[in-house]
Amino acid sequence: MENLSVIDKPIETKCPSCSMIPNETDAFCQQCGYPLKGTEMEQKTFMIDKEYKHVELDELNEATKNQKILYGYCQ
Ligand SMILES: [Zn+2]
Repeated sequence: MENLSVIDKPIETKCPSCSMIPNETDAFCQQCGYPLKGTEMEQKTFMIDKEYKHVELDELNEATKNQKILYGYCQ
């Protein structure tokens, strides 16, 4: 367990999403749009959304690959 006394640390020093170091004044990460100053809920939603898109893209690539195989087979 982490020490709970460090609860008052100001802001994340780097973006938890893409590991870029943002400016102190940035409300959103300039690299990936992560809500640095958003609520916990907004931050969680962003991460879930990111995961989801990632998975979706993988599935799409997989589907395209399969389609090509199928297409080639039918020719
Ligand atoms: Zn970021």
